[in-house]
Amino acid sequence: MGRFTTGVTVITTEVDGEVHGMTANAFMSVSLEPKLVQISVANKAKMLNLISESGTYTVNILSGDQQDISMQFAGQNKEDKEVEFETFEGLPIIKNSIVSLACKIYDTHEAGDHTLFIGEVLNLKIQDGDPLVYFEGKYKEFK
Ligand code: FAD
Repeated sequence: MGRFTTGVTVITTEVDGEVHGMTANAFMSVSLEPKLVQISVANKAKMLNLISESGTYTVNILSGDQQDISMQFAGQNKEDKEVEFETFEGLPIIKNSIVSLACKIYDTHEAGDHTLFIGEVLNLKIQDGDPLVYFEGKYKEFK
C-alpha cells in the first residue's frame, strides 16, 4: 500500500472542549448523494474512542507547506508544538488546509485492527494551494 500515492489529512475531533488530532491518509470519497466520505482509524489509536464519543470529526487535507503539521499529529516530531485551530461548523479545523470537511458519523464498521468511520459531510471549506503528497513512507513535493 505504500506504493499507492496519497495526499495527507489530519482528522480532528473535540470532546469536553479538548481537541485531538491524528494524521491519516486512509481517506476516500464514498457517495455524492448524500455526500459521504470514509476514514480508517487504528483500534489502538486514541482517536478511536474520541470520535465515537463526539459523533463528529473534520478531515483537513494538508497543503505542501504543512509537513510539520502532519508530523506533529503523527507523533513524529521530537517536541510537541502548540497548534491553533479554527472553528468551522462548530468543529475544530487546521488553519490553511487546502480543504476542510466537517462530518458527522453516518456509519461505523470494524474491519480487522481498524475501524471505518463513514461521515456525512455537513459542509466544506476550500483554499488554494498544492497538496502534501505521501509515497513509500516519505513526504513528496507535488510537481
Ligand atoms: P497520539 O499518538 O496521542 O497523537 C498523535 C500526535 O498528535 C501526538 O504527537 C499528539 O501530541 C498530537 N496532538 C493531538 N492532539 C493535539 C492538539 N490538540 N494539539 C497539538 N498536538 C496534538 N493511522 C490511522 O489509524 N489511520 C490512518 O489512515 C493513518 N494514516 C497515516 C498517514 C501518515 C502519512 C502517517 C505519518 C501516519 C498515519 N497514521 C494513521 C498513524 C497515526 O497518525 C499515528 O499512529 C498517530 O500517532 C495516532 O494518533 P492517536 O490518536 O493514537 O494519538
